Amino acid sequence: MDEAHDDMAQLPKAVNMPWLKKGRPFGNDRFEPSFYQSKEWKAFRKWYESQHPRLCMKCLEQGITKEAKYLDHIIPISQGGARLSEANVQWLCVKCNVIKSNQDRMNKNK
Ligand SMILES: [Zn+2]
Repeated sequence: MDEAHDDMAQLPKAVNMPWLKKGRPFGNDRFEPSFYQSKEWKAFRKWYESQHPRLCMKCLEQGITKEAKYLDHIIPISQGGARLSEANVQWLCVKCNVIKSNQDRMNKNK
């Protein structure tokens, strides 16, 4: 089940977390489990994977070839980024995804 996005990775999938529905769990509204589990996202992700080698784009920029784990929204959905746009997603490895998530959070708190 690696369709789940970064923030989901540490959480048990089946746990009922009613606070997540309120939109701003942990003060981070980038976290949208329902979207990341939607058919649309899964289908898009599958299509994207068929078009783009599954390599971390941030690592590639540094000349490192590393398998990606997450399909990240370059502009987070919560900041108005397109959800299902090829231009707004990128493959990231675990490490780069953590860095990116932290940056998104910081940008948001500015
Ligand atoms: Zn990376």
